[in-house]
Amino acid sequence: MTQKIDYQFDQDHIWHPYTSLTEPLPVYGVVAAKGCYLQLEDGSELVDGMSSWWSTLHGYNHPVLNDSMKAQIDKMAHVMFGGITHNPAIELSKRLVKLTPEGLDKIFISDSGSVAVEVSMKMALQYWHSQGKAEKSKFLALEKGYHGDTFAAMSVCDPITGMHTLFANNLQKQIFVERPSVKINQTWQANAMTALENTLKNHHHEAAALILEPVVQGTGGMYFYHPEYLVQARALCDKYDVLLIADEIATGFGRTGKLFACEWAGISPDILCLGKTLTGGMMSLAATLTTEKIATGICNGEAGVFMHGPTFMGNPLACATAVASIDLLLASDWQKKVAQLEKWLTKCLLPLKTNPKIADVRCLGAIGVVETHEPVNVAQIQKVFVEQGVWIRPFGKLVYIMPPYIAGLAEVEKLAHAIEYYFEQS
Ligand SMILES: *Cc1c(COP(=O)(O)O)cnc(C)c1O
Repeated sequence: MTQKIDYQFDQDHIWHPYTSLTEPLPVYGVVAAKGCYLQLEDGSELVDGMSSWWSTLHGYNHPVLNDSMKAQIDKMAHVMFGGITHNPAIELSKRLVKLTPEGLDKIFISDSGSVAVEVSMKMALQYWHSQGKAEKSKFLALEKGYHGDTFAAMSVCDPITGMHTLFANNLQKQIFVERPSVKINQTWQANAMTALENTLKNHHHEAAALILEPVVQGTGGMYFYHPEYLVQARALCDKYDVLLIADEIATGFGRTGKLFACEWAGISPDILCLGKTLTGGMMSLAATLTTEKIATGICNGEAGVFMHGPTFMGNPLACATAVASIDLLLASDWQKKVAQLEKWLTKCLLPLKTNPKIADVRCLGAIGVVETHEPVNVAQIQKVFVEQGVWIRPFGKLVYIMPPYIAGLAEVEKLAHAIEYYFEQS
């Protein structure tokens, strides 16, 4: 049964991400999705260039993921995690312990990326409290970073794009460091750590942790920085006794060409956040991992426990889906696929650099970014993209694509041609 989509009701009542209810942006009704394609109400199909915001790995409606979800539903979709455990959570945790950087053995499973970040910050605070250093209560964060929309997460997002002035009375004032200056493809500069080192020198006594997105700053600017920054940030955090939180909610599970972006630098953070890709884009699920040292500290502290426990913690359906997605990824030739996508994206997008409206083109793994000189009109550009048969949702000066790993050359070409077409005719 297909039902007509009630766009009027949608416009009148339903908020979409970062939109107005008085002047809503147009929305497109999707009725089904399969592989790399989204199907609209009128039957037309769009090549998906967004992986539903970094989350889809294997394409939509994948039979293996669907079957594992159906099998789990028939056992139990959900059961509380307080006083109860189950194999989906255990199997997922076994995989995460094995796959993530060394030492991250203690896992908190939650329901969304922002919550995973909240949990990571709470872990850092509780740890220092347990060490008799409750004054270490602020966070160091990078400018142009993005870590989520809840209040603690927002407090470590870039102050401008995170609209800190709007929430000035409600956000803790954190300490910001300029974003890493050396890009991934540039030669490393010996003075590139000065800003971070000076900040640590001045603030380590009040700093619980440095939080960053390793190698790829996503929503805050689609910026790829030199892995040496991470190597040295790890060493500086150790030197100044500040924890390191790696937010791999966007980069985890292969998107940058490594299973985790920390692997570019061969480092282990003290706390790691995963989300988005964890279930292959099927359901909301997130995880925060930490070390034995931090976990023991927290549990020997005043509270004696870690003070967090969402209702849908460890949701069996989501955990089972994550297990299926991880197994599917590991059984695939994902490294070759992502390397191939990087080549195709580079080949198809790089020619855009000659267009005077384009400021930069850069690609890493299965991420291709076209940066414009002027911010784009989202409604206008999206309309053209849909007419061209592609789904790309730009923001600001960033028109970026990150297709599911199963995308072929034809799909990448179609995405790139649509972008090229828009900037040639606009
Ligand atoms: C998307 C994202 C988040 C927030 O995740 P949600 O599931 O949207 O709450 C946090 N950090 C990074 C790096 C992200 O890309």
